[in-house]
Amino acid sequence: MEKSIHIAVVPGVGYSHLFPILQFSKLLVHHHPYIHITCFIPSHGSLSSDSKTILQNLPSNINSIFLPPVDSKDLPQGVPLEIQLQLTLTHSLPSIHQALKSLTLRTPFVALIVDSFAIAALDLAKDFNMLSYVYFPSAATTLSTYFYMFKHDKETSGEYRDLPDQPIQIPGCVPIHGRDLVDQAQNRSSESYKYLLQRIKRFRLVDGILINSFLEIEKGSIEALAEEGSGNPLVYAVGPIIQKGTEASKDDANSLECLSWLDKQKPSSVLYVSFGSGGTLSQEQIDELALGLELSNHKFLWVARAPSSLANAAYLSASDVDPLQFLPSGFLERTKEQGMVVPSWAPQIQILSHSSVGGFLTHCGWNSTLETMAHGVPLITWPLFAEQRTNAVLLSEGLKVGLRPRFHENGIVERVEIAELIKSLMEGEVGGKLRNNMKELKEAANSAHKEDGSSTKTLSQLALKWRNLV
Ligand code: UDP
Repeated sequence: MEKSIHIAVVPGVGYSHLFPILQFSKLLVHHHPYIHITCFIPSHGSLSSDSKTILQNLPSNINSIFLPPVDSKDLPQGVPLEIQLQLTLTHSLPSIHQALKSLTLRTPFVALIVDSFAIAALDLAKDFNMLSYVYFPSAATTLSTYFYMFKHDKETSGEYRDLPDQPIQIPGCVPIHGRDLVDQAQNRSSESYKYLLQRIKRFRLVDGILINSFLEIEKGSIEALAEEGSGNPLVYAVGPIIQKGTEASKDDANSLECLSWLDKQKPSSVLYVSFGSGGTLSQEQIDELALGLELSNHKFLWVARAPSSLANAAYLSASDVDPLQFLPSGFLERTKEQGMVVPSWAPQIQILSHSSVGGFLTHCGWNSTLETMAHGVPLITWPLFAEQRTNAVLLSEGLKVGLRPRFHENGIVERVEIAELIKSLMEGEVGGKLRNNMKELKEAANSAHKEDGSSTKTLSQLALKWRNLV
């Protein structure tokens, strides 16, 4: 009988930092059933229903240990989201340490894998003699931009967006403008930027970084990251790791209603509009988007949220306010034959896999990006926060599967621009090209995890390394 290998996993806080690393864990034990995973779940309060659904359906060789929730009153108020996420983890460290201590008496862990927003937990690898890995749930391009900043921080001054050589040429990557780097890099004197550099410094010291991407979409950046002499840790491209339709909850009234509405529409006729698990728009932008959708005359399915001046307002705390009351007056009545507006949340995987959906207006979160690739749906790329602008550059300029809107000086995308983009995507020659490019990515995405697929081979290398240690 094959010897068991035990791996400890620490996700970040929040649904979109929990489910990717769990999906990765599932994939790992599926390909290598002698691996046993213990997952230490930090939280900021009660878990969302989608998080609970995923945790209830884990295979028997993945155990989860729920850490005592961190009280938000113990966190400094008014600090940026990414700092809150990391501080929540820091507060959870003593309980992870305690749990590991009692578990290692019976089963020593070979490796520790932490989410990229849970790097505080990496210290535990030394304490318990484990190899250390970061699960980076984003693109290789984003990781490359991080290492670029780490390297050039001391050599350059001023903001990245003002550097004389724009766009920035990072080995293997699509050229990127400084303004499209991750949010935290937009103000180099901010606390967020300092935190980012500290995180990157830790990334460079681990035994490996597992990225949720795959060779076929980011060959250049993945190979450049692995180049000898780069000083980077080993990089393993193990994606695309996404939720399957059968795993997502779909039995609530909203979900059933929007899926049955899609059943009645023509093939590839509907534009799906969603800004991820927590993206929000200002009231002015909601008005423009609504009127742009109406003006386009195309069918739409829009997951709407209450307005906020903060683009990530709904990320950690869902609002109870009915978002439909913020739509322009008469909009719902006028568009009742043209579209459907779903409040706050919709079954995205089922929507993207539905034959009626022909386009996706997305905030370019990396999970949404991989999900849309796996289903071959071309995009309007409308980034809001975090590293979403970097993803938008990769999608629009690198892979050529999306159209990026022009933001007016006041930061708003206007209704006419929105309507034109929708028409180009859904009916034009440009849209046809994007659709064809996306079809190729769909094939590549669906092959990466086949028996001889690129990501399957990479996972096997990793598992072999661990086996040799047991
Ligand atoms: N999601 C969903 N329904 C929604 C909004 C989001 O199922 O109405 C899921 C989506 O399928 C994706 C995740 O939430 O898996 C969002 O992750 P992403 O990385 O795209 O964006 P984030 O939420 O981190 O900004």
